[in-house]
Amino acid sequence: MTSGPGRALVTGGAGFIGSHVVGKLLARGCSVAVLDDYSTGANENLPRAPGLELIAGDVRDYSQVLQAAQGADVVFHLAAQVGNVLSLERPDTDLATNALGTINVLKACRELSIPKLVYSSSGAIFGETVYIPVDEDHPKAPVSAYGISKLCAEQYCLVLGAEYKFQVSCLRYFNAYGVNQRFNPYGNVIPIFVEQALKGEPLHIYGDGEQTRDFIDVRDLAEANLLAYDSDAQGVFNIGTGVATTVNQLAKHAIEAVGNQVPITYGPSRAGEVRDSVADIGKAASQLGFRPSISIQQGVKDYVEWYKALGRA
Ligand code: NAD
Repeated sequence: MTSGPGRALVTGGAGFIGSHVVGKLLARGCSVAVLDDYSTGANENLPRAPGLELIAGDVRDYSQVLQAAQGADVVFHLAAQVGNVLSLERPDTDLATNALGTINVLKACRELSIPKLVYSSSGAIFGETVYIPVDEDHPKAPVSAYGISKLCAEQYCLVLGAEYKFQVSCLRYFNAYGVNQRFNPYGNVIPIFVEQALKGEPLHIYGDGEQTRDFIDVRDLAEANLLAYDSDAQGVFNIGTGVATTVNQLAKHAIEAVGNQVPITYGPSRAGEVRDSVADIGKAASQLGFRPSISIQQGVKDYVEWYKALGRA
């Protein structure tokens, strides 16, 4: 097993993706501090482990970030306001958490001479796809307030990381799904489909269902974070599977995994949604050694198992 950092700070570590990064770090024997305001995260996402320190705090508060980062060899920065609806209603809060929060993390890394930052960026920075697969140089024109704040934060990471002379990797996740992703009627499509199928309700698709997405299992995302830590490479990396899945195919996988033959219904497509999206992961493969290993069928099957167990708990 590769050794990890002695101590890592994971901001947003109680959240969906952060909890998996924490799990991988603990499995490597690292001590981990989690800084989270619990706005969407929860301690139940995390294992109980002697090496884990939970700190309730806000990345918008520099003194709290500085305190949490003491003694860290690396920061994995995932804390963010991720809700699209909220980001439209409160773009100011969104910007404060996503961009100013990131500046606080960058400043703390400089002040404490932490040599490495792995930042969770997003495929949302690209906006409408001009060509596919989407490589790192694809034009960036975010179509959501959230995407703007993530792009802004990424730029700060690249410019200030170079200025302050520490290593920064920005991982642009495409559509993440998997264990610890909760159902929210305005949230991500996989929990919604699974919830509908389990209840025996029709799966509702906006548009003709032929729009494509690159759905990546959260376990592969967590692995990408550790690979970014292990590697000397830095800069921006698109992180997906490189496989385009249509929403129609996804609906079929969800129905199959749940085992309920529910119908699929169609309605008008939603404004602000891109038509096609799939990542070119060539750079992450060659520079980080990233090889996503979980197919969409397997990932959805595992997710359904977890989701069912959650309902029974
Ligand atoms: P999440 O909401 O589960 O995780 C975000 C975590 O940050 C939560 O635990 C939340 O409580 C915490 N948080 C929010 N505001 C905070 C603040 N001000 N101070 C401290 N903690 C705060 O969402 P997620 O999907 O796990 O997202 C993690 C990261 O991955 C985010 O940076 C997000 O932008 C990025 N990302 C997610 C996806 C996806 O499909 N889920 C795709 C691309 C990028």
